[in-house]
Amino acid sequence: MVEFKKILFPTDFSPFAEKASEYAVSLAKKYGSKLYVLHVIEQFTYIIDIGIDFRTQTSLEATARKLLDDTVASLSKHGVDIEGVLRSGNPFAEIVHFASRENIDLIVMATHGRTGLEHMLMGSVTEKVIRKAPCPVLTIRRPA
Ligand code: ATP
Ligand code: MN
Repeated sequence: MVEFKKILFPTDFSPFAEKASEYAVSLAKKYGSKLYVLHVIEQFTYIIDIGIDFRTQTSLEATARKLLDDTVASLSKHGVDIEGVLRSGNPFAEIVHFASRENIDLIVMATHGRTGLEHMLMGSVTEKVIRKAPCPVLTIRRPA
């Protein structure tokens, strides 16, 4: 029997990820799974985006921690066992690494994220996770 004891929902806190969280929570509830909500802090994003990184690692972490805590609190209302996890580094690598190490049974994630380019079939993080994940990946496409 295939079991979904542990489900992983990686989030970049975008509206697409929020939509995917509905599927992650519903499945966790149905199968009595533990739900991990993982956010990876991309350390070099801001350097590329605005040319200079005047934020300290500490403030990036504080912002991410707050958003993660809010997400976990809001999803916990559905009566599912949830754990928020914060990591730093390359999002795709950290997601795949976490799934392997924690023996995750299913990853639930959106096809798009913060960038959300419509003409792209899916974002780069989702594409790489699908290629390398040690478990099945359920992808939620953005609503038309
Ligand atoms: P791209 O980043 O390639 O320009 P995009 O932002 O539209 O495009 P992705 O980054 O692949 O698309 O995002 C798709 C999903 O991947 C998000 O909805 C989210 O669930 C997950 N994801 C993206 N970045 C992170 C992150 N830093 N931490 C955790 N999950 C992430
Ligand atoms: Mn992205």
